[in-house]
Amino acid sequence: MLTFDAIVIGFGKAGKTIAGDLANKDWQVAMIEKDPNMYGGTCINIACIPTKMLVHDGMQNVPYGEAIERKDDVVDKLNEKNYKQLADHDNVTIFDSGATFRSDKEVAVETNGKKEILTAEHIFINTGAVSNIPPMEGDINSDKVYTSTTLINRKQLPKKLAIVGGGYIGLEYASMYRNFGSDVTVITPEEKLLSDEDSDIAEEIEKEFQNKGINIINGTKAEKIEENNEDDVTLTLSNNDQVTANAVLLATGRKPNTESLGLENTSIELTEDGAIKVGDNLETTTDNVWALGDVRGGFQFTYISLDDYRIVMSHLLGDKSYSLKTRENVPYTMFVEPPFSRVGLTKEEADKEGFEAAEGKMAVASHPRAHVLNDLRGLFKVVVDKQTDKILGASLFGPVSEELINLVKLAMDLDAPYTYLRDQMYNHPVMSESFNGLFAVED
Ligand SMILES: Cc1cc2nc3c(=O)[nH]c(=O)nc-3n(C[C@H](O)[C@H](O)[C@H](O)COP(=O)(O)OP(=O)(O)OC[C@H]3O[C@@H](n4cnc5c(N)ncnc54)[C@H](O)[C@@H]3O)c2cc1C
Repeated sequence: MLTFDAIVIGFGKAGKTIAGDLANKDWQVAMIEKDPNMYGGTCINIACIPTKMLVHDGMQNVPYGEAIERKDDVVDKLNEKNYKQLADHDNVTIFDSGATFRSDKEVAVETNGKKEILTAEHIFINTGAVSNIPPMEGDINSDKVYTSTTLINRKQLPKKLAIVGGGYIGLEYASMYRNFGSDVTVITPEEKLLSDEDSDIAEEIEKEFQNKGINIINGTKAEKIEENNEDDVTLTLSNNDQVTANAVLLATGRKPNTESLGLENTSIELTEDGAIKVGDNLETTTDNVWALGDVRGGFQFTYISLDDYRIVMSHLLGDKSYSLKTRENVPYTMFVEPPFSRVGLTKEEADKEGFEAAEGKMAVASHPRAHVLNDLRGLFKVVVDKQTDKILGASLFGPVSEELINLVKLAMDLDAPYTYLRDQMYNHPVMSESFNGLFAVED
């Protein structure tokens, strides 16, 4: 049995950060990663970075093949850099293996045919999430059926792409593949796209999708896949319509990755949704075993995983003040064209929660910077509390919203009154000066 101070399972954002940090503090750390193609985790290898590179290149009219090559090149470099950062550390041992718990504090690995048991008082589970495969009849295992991971490894652009699922990943891929030139159809069971978002903004996004020529089939499920020939497959929908495509993307969510962890050998419990159950400090139901990132459920973002690391360190070696309870105002962006970003409440949500809410609204086309950028698409909305003057939320669909949203989050975190953003002096001409008008809310 090999004894360490800490075992980290999974090379994700939280895992690699905590491993490096503890190693710098002279802890002996074992990092276990089952797939060398995933050194550095999901974000840099198969998710945020490669997809946002493709989104960017699609908008710049770079041919698909060239964009895939550039993406592969950057991913290889990042993977290697991430590996070296830990592998070159004297206090870190990397095990290229799946990890399976034998008991609460014992983990089995197998490297080069050699089985070993590792033990440590502190164990950090950071095994991420995997694509949900929906129950569908027919040829679901066809090589023309893809997940978000496998589609971006396809070297040739699909002429016709059908996307099952209208969530964030489905819509980002729809916008991106349409920009590269695919005919894209999105099939979603929702009656309206993005029903959890502000309804004006959701309508605006759907309108832009239609303007781009993306075909959206709402209120319908894909129920059957049939392979027709070498080139295409046909999807049969719940309303009996059929869609034929050269590639089908299953974008029906991602579930916590716990399957091969052997948790049945431990006292670590799962939630009803199959995530690892944690307290507000991210400790599992077993002392000194912690779960971070997608595997513990909730928002699935890289910066949440990184922030989970901050929570754990606050409890492990800090003053224990930071927890899920004290985390505030999580922003997010859907990188469609133009991007949509959100933080806090929509007006509908604020009304339901009983706030005396007022709303600011601005068409992106009315803003000078939008003319400079030659991109007039989109709508910005903000919500404030008339009793306290606090900012309750923002939904920004338009150019540069992925940056602007962090300014609003910062103001919210600092409890700045909305008038602070309204009356601020901004440089010119930039998108943030839209806040002068946007926060001039109507009663
Ligand atoms: C297509 C797509 C686009 C996305 N875009 C964005 C974006 O733009 N911005 C954003 O913030 N988020 C984005 N996300 C979400 C983001 O990628 C994830 O939330 C984040 O990467 C999760 O990180 P993590 O720390 O939980 O673990 P991960 O980075 O998922 O790492 C888990 C690691 O554990 C390994 N592992 C699993 N099981 C075992 C085992 N038993 N033993 C050993 N190792 C194991 C895996 O191989 C993997 O390397 C996107 C996701 C997808 C799918």
